[in-house]
Amino acid sequence: MEPQTLPHRCWIELNADALRHNATVARTQGAAEMMAVVKANAYGHGAVWAARTLQDSVAMFGVANVQEALELRAAGIEKPNYLLSPCLPEEWELAVRMGCHISVSSLQEAIALDKLAQRLETKALLHAVVDTGMGRIGFLEEAWDHSAIAALMSVKHVSWEGLNTHLPSADEDAAFTRAQLARFRQAVEKAQGMGFRPKWIHASNSAGLLGYEEQRGLCNLTRPGLMLYGVSPLPEEQSRLKPVLTWKTRVTLVRELPAGHGVSYGSTYITERPTRVATLACGYADGYPRQASGHGAQVIIGNTVCPVLGRVTMDQIMVDVSTCGDAKPGDEAVLIGAQRSTKVTATEIAAWSNTIEWHVFTGIGPRVPRLAVG
Ligand SMILES: *Cc1c(COP(=O)(O)O)cnc(C)c1O
Repeated sequence: MEPQTLPHRCWIELNADALRHNATVARTQGAAEMMAVVKANAYGHGAVWAARTLQDSVAMFGVANVQEALELRAAGIEKPNYLLSPCLPEEWELAVRMGCHISVSSLQEAIALDKLAQRLETKALLHAVVDTGMGRIGFLEEAWDHSAIAALMSVKHVSWEGLNTHLPSADEDAAFTRAQLARFRQAVEKAQGMGFRPKWIHASNSAGLLGYEEQRGLCNLTRPGLMLYGVSPLPEEQSRLKPVLTWKTRVTLVRELPAGHGVSYGSTYITERPTRVATLACGYADGYPRQASGHGAQVIIGNTVCPVLGRVTMDQIMVDVSTCGDAKPGDEAVLIGAQRSTKVTATEIAAWSNTIEWHVFTGIGPRVPRLAVG
């Protein structure tokens, strides 16, 4: 058999209709325009695939860094890229040359970028960030005063494309988030009152977009990430979204273990009775979280839910297939997704492994091919 005709052992199937559906939910929920966040390989789904699917319906893409912007550019995607993380000093020149939208956290940065753009005989496309509580990037609110705003307005080789903030607790603390949005409104009004009017005002990640009406009147751009991939950070909104990826692997072996037999490293699981155990072609090297071991993790084989037994290993997982009749090598096992009447969600995997869906998705490794289906 030629290598290229070998079966997939662990792979992802991508549903473009679901991605478009979720983008439509985001668009109807928020402001007129959207920055689709496709950082970290579109949360593991494939940045080029996601950007191609969404490019006609978004104003720009949110990427982590200039390397990710380059990947989209190389694939022929022309929509602007906003760099969500600050550039390293050596990255600034390429970012400006490429026309990336760059976040600015201080006057010094704005002045340095202005100088750089002058030297390159272009304009730097900048977004001023106001830190209303994230504690990561941006101007502190105390520093967002008349003299700072006047100084930002005075740089000549800059086009002010945006003014934004970030909501760190929109899925955890509504009072905090409402207060943040109110203070961001003041920051925007202060700037606009001085004639500083960047084109895009933006604040809302998925939870901000889904949970807070007040962002509608304030912002004209949204920044959804997770919800585009079909997971709502607010459980009450989950039914509006469709999962975009299905994560599958295959049974490689089925064996009958006697009662009292250990399974996997450390023998943290010991069979209580004779047990039919299937070995799967996926492990933590593919991104299945090792932390899910022993916390109720399940996969689906033949429309039956099968418990994961013992520790997840680097390349293999063992599951109990005693109740799923005729499981045999080559059968598909669903790690995330639905099989007829049963399903496993990224949210469940996150709960079993004591982490968040963002982490589960971005953990899916480079060994796992992403296949666009349908
Ligand atoms: C990642 C990110 C987002 C998207 O967040 P989700 O919770 O995935 O919707 C929005 N804004 C910024 C600044 C981000 O870093």
